[in-house]
Amino acid sequence: MDFSPSPVMQALLPKVRSFLDEHVMPLEAGLARGFWALQPELDHVRARAKQVGLWQPQVRREAGGMGLSVLEHGMVSEVLGRTPLGHYALGCQAPDAGNLELLLEYATDDQRESFLRPLLDGTARSAFGMTEPEHAGSNPVWLSTRADDDGAAWVLHGHKWFTTAVDGAAFVIVMAVTDPDAAPHERASMIVVPTETPVRNIPIMGEAGEGWLSHGEIRLHGARVPKANLLGPRGRGFALAQARLGPGRIHHCMRWLGVCERSFEALVHRAATRELAPGRTLGEQQTVQTWIADARAEIDAARLLVLRAAWTIDHEGLERAREQISLIKFFTADVMLRVIDRALQAHGAAGMTDEVVLSHFYRHERGARIYDGPDEVHRAVVAKRILSQARREAGQP
Ligand SMILES: Cc1cc2nc3c(=O)[nH]c(=O)nc-3n(C[C@H](O)[C@H](O)[C@H](O)COP(=O)(O)OP(=O)(O)OC[C@H]3O[C@@H](n4cnc5c(N)ncnc54)[C@H](O)[C@@H]3O)c2cc1C
Repeated sequence: MDFSPSPVMQALLPKVRSFLDEHVMPLEAGLARGFWALQPELDHVRARAKQVGLWQPQVRREAGGMGLSVLEHGMVSEVLGRTPLGHYALGCQAPDAGNLELLLEYATDDQRESFLRPLLDGTARSAFGMTEPEHAGSNPVWLSTRADDDGAAWVLHGHKWFTTAVDGAAFVIVMAVTDPDAAPHERASMIVVPTETPVRNIPIMGEAGEGWLSHGEIRLHGARVPKANLLGPRGRGFALAQARLGPGRIHHCMRWLGVCERSFEALVHRAATRELAPGRTLGEQQTVQTWIADARAEIDAARLLVLRAAWTIDHEGLERAREQISLIKFFTADVMLRVIDRALQAHGAAGMTDEVVLSHFYRHERGARIYDGPDEVHRAVVAKRILSQARREAGQP
């Protein structure tokens, strides 16, 4: 395995970094004003990203993106993750990135025109509605939301929450039961639902957020959508969700490495410059030195695991990388949260304020251990595969 950046990447990565430094980082100060206030400036930055050839790194070239491999996108994504606005600026933010992949793979011609094209252009946003408050989201085949075929349309009844970025989204891809009598993994389908429904943004640790920076709750009371809004084959929603979440998880891990590096830099800077007494810096404390050394080792280890998983997807396919994806999902989330926490601690009271990005990371990245499969589920996936291999080797059934 060779993770060294190609000459193309060696030129691209500094370009992405300086684009962020020049155009995106300065907008961070506006995060406290909310997404809607920031949006005009973000639109401006996105237009500029397109002009300079930095639009949608993960999307293939024929569709207007940069056509990077998973490994290459990982390297770019780490740079973008340094700021909460990095992925949005280049049009590769969740949940649109996952929805784009679904639509590129499964959309009909009409769906491409109505739903895919605006996402590729960045003129619309989308959301993904699977989790329901009434059921354990970690058991994805247990859903109450129904879509009934009344001959002319799908009629939806259901309740979704934590539908990230549904506020202001043009549509949400809803997982709904269309075939209640089928086998559990074949009951649900994906249906594209234009979002005219009112949305409640759920407060997250005191902040409800808005627009792309929010997580909404939606109720579908008899919403009618055309039959043609079925995405992919009927009854295949679960399989499509698995296909969507595989690369989605790796995208998150790549972004988290950027969060790690930014937080690490803040930790080191604070330790090197904060004086506890004249001429005596925080970094002289052995506890803080341990934080720094451990964080460096853990981030480097996480990066190598993430790059290995990306390499495996590129060279051997998603299926072969499943265990590695589970492994990096819980490992990287854990490393990131520890690094953010240490960096925040080193900043003392200032770390709690919205004047440093660490408090934003602390609030908004805690969910990393929960979404796209809680840690415990991913650990179980890894352990079960290892145990079943051991049973096979021991000649047990
Ligand atoms: C920030 C954020 C954004 C999200 N965005 C979206 C989105 O855009 N669209 C969407 O559909 N959903 C989204 N979700 C929802 C997310 O997918 C679910 O929260 C997740 O699947 C867990 O489901 P749950 O919250 O119902 O927890 P539960 O399933 O009730 O689980 C609760 C806890 O139980 C433990 N647990 C669960 N299963 C096991 C197990 N097998 N073994 C041991 N312990 C276990 C875990 O610690 C877990 O955290 C988002 C969540 C967050 C926090």
